Amino acid sequence: MSNHADHLSKVWGLTSDLPELESQSLSRKCPTDRVFVNRSLSLDTIRYYGFDMDYTLAEYRTPYMEAETAKYAFERLTELGYPKELVDTKYLPDFAVRGLIFDKKQGNFLKLDLHGLVLTACRGTRKLTRREIRDEYPTKFCKLLEKMPEGENRFLQLFDTLFDTPKIFVVSVLVDWLEKSSNYAKTDAGYFDNSNSSLITYGTIWSDVLQAFDMVHMKGPLHSNIMKYPDRFIERNPNLPKLLEYLQSCDRKVFLLTNSPYKFTNVVMNYLLDDLTGKKWTDYFDYVIVKASKPRFFNEGTPFRHINRTTGSAILGTHQADIMLQGEVYSGGNCDLFCQLTGAEGPDILYFGDHIYGDVVRSKKTNGWKTFLVVPELKHDLDVWTRETKLFERHHQLERQLGELQAASANNQDREAIRKLDQERKTIVDEIDARYNPYFGSTFRKGGRLSCFANQMDKYADVYASTINNIINYSLSHQFWSPPKLLPHEATVAQQPE
Ligand SMILES: [Mg+2]
Repeated sequence: MSNHADHLSKVWGLTSDLPELESQSLSRKCPTDRVFVNRSLSLDTIRYYGFDMDYTLAEYRTPYMEAETAKYAFERLTELGYPKELVDTKYLPDFAVRGLIFDKKQGNFLKLDLHGLVLTACRGTRKLTRREIRDEYPTKFCKLLEKMPEGENRFLQLFDTLFDTPKIFVVSVLVDWLEKSSNYAKTDAGYFDNSNSSLITYGTIWSDVLQAFDMVHMKGPLHSNIMKYPDRFIERNPNLPKLLEYLQSCDRKVFLLTNSPYKFTNVVMNYLLDDLTGKKWTDYFDYVIVKASKPRFFNEGTPFRHINRTTGSAILGTHQADIMLQGEVYSGGNCDLFCQLTGAEGPDILYFGDHIYGDVVRSKKTNGWKTFLVVPELKHDLDVWTRETKLFERHHQLERQLGELQAASANNQDREAIRKLDQERKTIVDEIDARYNPYFGSTFRKGGRLSCFANQMDKYADVYASTINNIINYSLSHQFWSPPKLLPHEATVAQQPE
């Protein structure tokens, strides 16, 4: 048995029918099982494995979870005065992608590149044509991006978590409703209802939607329904207990760091671990922190408290401790305190999370943690990437031909050929986009340009994969090597033979 097969055997309990998955053949055979590398990382140096919970350890059932969330949000919005028929809106599972930005001035959802170039746009649930994008953004740049992508500004709202996809849908449906409503007249300031002198702007739509979702998440039926029927909302991962046990058996410290409150965390983790194995979920972790308030946790943090597991509430006052105990649950705190109490140091921590800002940007930028971004969208993305070979080849071919023609001195005939090739290139780009998602295309790119989300992933996630399970395909001494990244002057200029 190969080392890799031996490793899988130990972890998964698989034996004779174990497929031979050497690292090299893994890269050829199972793209969805792989971990992809932005920066080289040696697992040998990692002593602490940390996990976020929502959409990381707990994989929510998509699109059921999103459809239910949107339905509850519409119910709350009708309480705020929006029309009752919105509650019957059918959820569009292939509408939203992560990393979109809502332009609160012009009412469009935008997929931008890192510098603010508009790659794709929708007004409501209608995709804007290239010409419409030009009309709305004459330079094709969204100039409001000045304070992005660190957070939000007055005019833009970033949607970068999987919890955000129903919000994108709900805002878009409200924009559709306003555009079609005969009660409201569109003015420069917003949509005006003359009968009662009221004005709705895209900004007020966003604040109403935010309020509705806060009610759904904090006090509404979503959490209570997930807690009552976790099997309806959460995929059970039979590999999870084995993965966590394996890490602990290899003398690695394992911790849970989640923004969810204790009572919710307790139900979800019970469902994922206790119900499956009969062992307490807290036994799978050396340290547990709930209500962490990431990304604040990676800066000043919040008061560090000890949870009374009988009542489920935090004990009054900040917890004074020299160590964190296994089996106990803590709330809040901050990264420096966590490292002080556990002996961890930034670079010996590998943290798994799905939220680009909450989990990955601050942990890496401020504290030097190694980061593993969970990107469930990769499964679909890889499917299109591997299936649509002809389209991608034609696109590369057209870009190459265009480059060659444009580099040559252009006469009128050449200019006409360039125009035709460019038109075909745009058609191919649209066809590729439609294979990913009919509204916004791929989460990661449009044609040759990377999206803002893809750039953030590249910059802050050391490694990424569609699920945490993929780490099990590598030994704990594995060295992840990043593919070489050549600059254009290195990639396109041949070196002289010796
Ligand atoms: Mg999460």
